[in-house]
Amino acid sequence: MSRKYVVGVDLGGTKIATGLGNMEGDLLAVRIIPTQASLGVDGVIERIHSTIYDVLEKAGADIDELYGIGICSPGPVNPKTGMIALAPNLGWENVPLVQLIAKEFPVPVFLENDANAAALGELWFGAGRGVENLLYITVSTGIGGGIVLGGKIYRGRNFMAGEIGHAIFDANSPVQCGCGQYGCIETLASGTAIARIARERIQSGEESMIRSMVDNLDEVDVRIIAQAEEKGDKLAKDVLDNAVRNLGLFIASLLNILDVDRVIIGGGVSKLGSRLFDGINDVIVKNMADIPAKNTPIVPSQTGDNVGILGAIGLVFESIGYSRVG
Ligand SMILES: [Zn+2]
Repeated sequence: MSRKYVVGVDLGGTKIATGLGNMEGDLLAVRIIPTQASLGVDGVIERIHSTIYDVLEKAGADIDELYGIGICSPGPVNPKTGMIALAPNLGWENVPLVQLIAKEFPVPVFLENDANAAALGELWFGAGRGVENLLYITVSTGIGGGIVLGGKIYRGRNFMAGEIGHAIFDANSPVQCGCGQYGCIETLASGTAIARIARERIQSGEESMIRSMVDNLDEVDVRIIAQAEEKGDKLAKDVLDNAVRNLGLFIASLLNILDVDRVIIGGGVSKLGSRLFDGINDVIVKNMADIPAKNTPIVPSQTGDNVGILGAIGLVFESIGYSRVG
């Protein structure tokens, strides 16, 4: 039986999303179920297995027709040993995930962290098609990233390359990041940070219509700030201007280091659309002066809700050395 399919599993704290794709990257079947992390490692592994059987059955595919199974999970993971080192949202520590999946399915199984997988998803099926070197940035509750060089993820010595959210952007910042450092870009420009900054400024007495748009300031998020800006709110505009400027300068620094073909931005904050992308482009063009990398395209991610599944499938393509999507 010829091999013609790939399975991608997006393992998260709340849901398991599994898809079966062909070698052109078409998703032929998808199954999404709650993770139910409270069931523990064995219970969750069984649930992953069931989704794989489900997509195989839905698409009328046989295990013998699989090239492999890719899995992505929030980091840190060790792609070499197939271990999840730590997954707080699952309550897991040192779980040999690849081994546990391969026990049930006798095909090659690969593991990668979600941001690196998303970069591969964009490379193979999204906004990164046609280039070999790209930087993927996700701006959501945190800031993460993946670096693709020569068509492959650059993983680094400790598999931590691309963890751009913890690059220190403001050494004098009083804000401590979850990682322990002060002034990480994540504390200045992530969705969580943008909301926190707006909230703090309102709490310190600054005028803003945001106050009347929510019952409780805890509800403030980037979407609400953007709505307030559209209605002419000065504080909202200033908060977003600062975040866009910080992100633009940060990306300019990364372009100075990496000089990639394309920068792709995904995650919830990327839904700001042209407000974000035009703003970032302006900042980069203005600040990089005569550096040619200022013209690098900065584009939105294209893999949408299936980013994890497509990333995990791209991981299999990368791992088996598949060279071309049709
Ligand atoms: Zn940090």
